Amino acid sequence: MLGGDPKGLGTLGSLAVVLLSALGGSLKVVGGLVYGSRAALVDALTSIVNLLSALAVTRFEYLSTRPPDWDHHYGHYRLFAGGSIATLVLYSTVGGAMLVELAFSAIRGYEVHVYAPLYVALGVVPYVFAIALSRGAGRSFKTYAKFTSIELIEGGTVIASALGGALVSYVIDSLGAVALLAYLYFEIAMEARELVHLVSDRVPVHLLSEVPRRVRREVGVGVRQVRLREIAPGKYQGDITITLPKGTPIEHAHSIASRVEEVLEGLGIEVVVHVEPADSEEVRRKPRN
Ligand SMILES: [Zn+2]
Repeated sequence: MLGGDPKGLGTLGSLAVVLLSALGGSLKVVGGLVYGSRAALVDALTSIVNLLSALAVTRFEYLSTRPPDWDHHYGHYRLFAGGSIATLVLYSTVGGAMLVELAFSAIRGYEVHVYAPLYVALGVVPYVFAIALSRGAGRSFKTYAKFTSIELIEGGTVIASALGGALVSYVIDSLGAVALLAYLYFEIAMEARELVHLVSDRVPVHLLSEVPRRVRREVGVGVRQVRLREIAPGKYQGDITITLPKGTPIEHAHSIASRVEEVLEGLGIEVVVHVEPADSEEVRRKPRN
């Protein structure tokens, strides 16, 4: 299940992170459902969906590394987006449910028991260990550590607002819940934006000048055109048009094209190479470029 993290934590470490996070989330659920803090409830639910989406992201990262096969000729890279989609669905579900819940509770009024902040405080403890474990791990779990660090800030906010809700007025607890919910919507917006960018065939601008330079330097041929698109973070596909002297034997042209593919593969780029003769037209055009 946690196949995307083979060299980092190991299965046991990943399992420990998952269990610690689940324990932390459960304690916050008690503070929210049993002792009435709506802030704790938002925090608990976001903790749980954070964990679920981290698992989904890990799973899809793993699936995206599978080699091309009969039904995915360009590789499975774009399955990477599955993690983002799962995250968006999970976050939006919690965001929508809590928005309605909070609106009704705030209008009717509610009571927060003084145990609510206590359970949230207890719930924060396992997260500290989960973060410490995730820090040394692979990419997806490092991302998760970043998420869980925000959990600590949220935990502090919830403890303060639930305490205020128990001792002064439920309104303070509601305000804490609103703050967390606002942050959740911010995350939804950011994740959605990232996903749209990912599937929009964005050009890796930083590579556009690097590609012709590399090919000229390492293969020694001219480059007339490069088209690239990002298909997953750090993975690019596209095509490149190179120029070879007129009369170049096809075997030679083929080995040069293969060499271009090899060189660019080192940059995470898969290309189809198109070959054109370096004709007089290009020579005339060159000074103007
Ligand atoms: Zn396939």
